[in-house]
Amino acid sequence: MSSSPFQIDDPRFLHLIASSARLDELFTGCRWAEGPVWFADTLCLLWSDIPNQRILRWSMDATGGGSVSVFRQPSNFANGQTRDRQGRLVTCEHGGRRVTRTEVDGSITVLAESYQGKRLNSPNDVIVASDGAIWFSDPTYGILSDYEGYQSEPEQPAKGIYRLAPDGQLAQVASDFLQPNGLAFSLDERTLYVADSGASHAPDAPRHIFAFDVRDGRLSGQRVFATIDVGIPDGMRVDVQGNLWSSAGDGVHCIAPDGTRLGKILVPQSVANLTFGGPKRNRLFIAASASLYAIYLAVSGVQTP
Ligand code: MG
Repeated sequence: MSSSPFQIDDPRFLHLIASSARLDELFTGCRWAEGPVWFADTLCLLWSDIPNQRILRWSMDATGGGSVSVFRQPSNFANGQTRDRQGRLVTCEHGGRRVTRTEVDGSITVLAESYQGKRLNSPNDVIVASDGAIWFSDPTYGILSDYEGYQSEPEQPAKGIYRLAPDGQLAQVASDFLQPNGLAFSLDERTLYVADSGASHAPDAPRHIFAFDVRDGRLSGQRVFATIDVGIPDGMRVDVQGNLWSSAGDGVHCIAPDGTRLGKILVPQSVANLTFGGPKRNRLFIAASASLYAIYLAVSGVQTP
């Protein structure tokens, strides 16, 4: 690996990065890091260490360094996380095969655990739309073995994307995937990006990020938006210019709204998920296998609670 963590594929990438920035390893010792979520109000990051049954917390200090503590253990094999419009933590749990919300008092409310009378597979990643609807993916990773959950047979006929409406109605809105995984909206929320990580168990399978048109809480027009060339796509986030930052086997890939890959942040371990954070939201936190990394960028992530 060269000294620069950046691979430039398109000149537009030069405007998104701070060329002298370096990749900081903030923590190592996870078995499989996932689910990073930033708390601007308390300047801390939570992330999941799925096989170790814990959610960790990195608390930022005045110099941008930080300290790590355990936020929740056991975590019910927590995976992807986000915050809702009120700032409450929303968590996908493999162990409970459910999506939960952590209330301000610390109690846990189950938001979704079954669809049409059958248990979900193992919710993986989650985002919240500006109308408060919660969108999540439901692949089978958490029930394939006892490593990241509890081995079990799937009950759902499909591995879907679900939308939990603000009124509590749960709908399956897409199902044509090998393994749906990371999710992200375009800036105007009229496009939903969905990573299909099915090549994790079928090496010849495509490594697509799909795009859908979003209208009135429904999806249409499924199409290939981009293909990852190393590893598989997993968690994704969008910056304020609309670029998509996707997990991949060799780091983080930055993809313009037109589908062109602009460049990569090269990371020494496979990346599973990422999120923008820091006081200016211009620091990308990267959950990559055993470690949590961070790097400053010249662009900020979309503001979420
Ligand atoms: Mg994931």
